[in-house]
Amino acid sequence: KKLNSSEFRQMFLDFFAEHGHMVMQSASLIPKDDPTLLWINSGVATMKKYFDGSVVPKNRRITSSQKSIRTNDIENVGKTARHQTLFEMLGNFSVGDYFKEEAIPWAWEFLTSPKWLDLDKDKLYVTVYPKDTEAHRIWHEVVGLPEDHIVQLEDNFWDIGEGPCGPDSEIFYDRGQENNDVPEDDPENFPGGENARYLEIWNIVFSEFNHLPDGSYVEQPHKNIDTGMGLERVLSILQDAPTNFETDLFLPIIHATEDLSDGKKYGVNKDDDTSFKIIADHIRAISFAIGDGALPGNNGRGYVLRRLLRRAALNGRKLGIKDAFLYKLVPVVGDIMKSHYPEVADQADFISKVIKNEEERFGATLEAGLTLLDDLIDKAKASEDKTISGQDAFKMFDTYGFPYELTVEAAEDNGLKVDKAGFDSEMEAQKERARKARGKLESMGSQDETLMEIKDDSTFDYGVYEEQGKLIDI
Ligand code: ATP
Ligand code: MG
Ligand code: MG
Ligand code: MG
Repeated sequence: KKLNSSEFRQMFLDFFAEHGHMVMQSASLIPKDDPTLLWINSGVATMKKYFDGSVVPKNRRITSSQKSIRTNDIENVGKTARHQTLFEMLGNFSVGDYFKEEAIPWAWEFLTSPKWLDLDKDKLYVTVYPKDTEAHRIWHEVVGLPEDHIVQLEDNFWDIGEGPCGPDSEIFYDRGQENNDVPEDDPENFPGGENARYLEIWNIVFSEFNHLPDGSYVEQPHKNIDTGMGLERVLSILQDAPTNFETDLFLPIIHATEDLSDGKKYGVNKDDDTSFKIIADHIRAISFAIGDGALPGNNGRGYVLRRLLRRAALNGRKLGIKDAFLYKLVPVVGDIMKSHYPEVADQADFISKVIKNEEERFGATLEAGLTLLDDLIDKAKASEDKTISGQDAFKMFDTYGFPYELTVEAAEDNGLKVDKAGFDSEMEAQKERARKARGKLESMGSQDETLMEIKDDSTFDYGVYEEQGKLIDI
């Protein structure tokens, strides 16, 4: 079926509404009352209060399309066919209501019934946790999936340390032999392995245990279902797109970028395509994050935004775009998304202003920064240890506003390393200087980071981001 993104999203919500679910609006990307998360990174991240029993929902069956940001995938963007930083997670949830017997056959019905997605059954594979004989039985006997389409995988246990956890079952779509990125006889050549041929589209978590602080597992009195389907991934299948990016969610952004570029076209060479994808992805994440109240800054969420924005700006340079341009893409993002998420279109002017301001700040040192970066790369290539020194990486950061990760990425693209310990100690020394200077500032009262008051890079608190960043890697 050739559905567009709005039709497909609506179809998913309709399917679960027909099965008694209440349709919930997407929550903000900024977690509420949850200090453990920097960004909402899945549908279930917004449902914690229901799953831990502190709030009882009006209806124990819930469905949603949740905007999600994953910073652990930043470097995958443009390189894999399937990762974005901002994506939509379609989900159905059972808060102590139905369990495996319903969740598995419903997933199958939605994917394969001619009334719904009508995907080719032969192309679908599932993974199950080896001890979860129940899930295996349902896939095989109730759904009728042949044994050779069911893969047992030790990894299929969803557990974040303490709290509700349980086995999961993931659904993969076979994109065909031409998408193999490992040899046919490679041990990773199976659904669930590291091979782009088998695209993971849906994860169904059977949350049936409680992981106690002492490390033991007990059965939960109320068992929950939590599922997550990547909207853009399934859309790429429905629209015969080789990657998530050749779909109606991204192509208009890519085309607008072509128009802003120095005659570059998408689909001509691989490096340019990577830049187009990075820009299209990052501008969506940045626009939505700002729309939900985040602002570029020096730590936490602000730092993630700054990092995304500067990475996108750098890729604009690679396409020959000399001036601030990302802000011009905001209305395009707003238009594409407004049927379900009006927030970007509604605040397009404000979002554009924030982005333009940030682009211009970085733009002022970008050219000089890139020149230095080239020199540093040449120097490191000629060096014994093929490493950019911590001092040099810090100079890129402190003087030219290049987030550390951008220097690392450039280094890695050239087969080089960066001395992280050296960078950290430069940063520590910087922080010490800032601490000494802080007394004065504090007497002026604390200030919010607003558009006009973006702090200087030299007070950037890298440590905080590191601490928070770890919590969101899943
Ligand atoms: P992958 O192994 O491909 O990185 P995942 O196992 O990390 O995916 P889950 O945490 O299981 O993903 O999330 C549920 C679903 O959300 C995935 O099956 C996929 O369809 C989608 N998804 C996850 N991460 C991304 C991403 N970065 N971009 C787009 N879709 C994603
Ligand atoms: Mg992942
Ligand atoms: Mg996975
Ligand atoms: Mg998964």
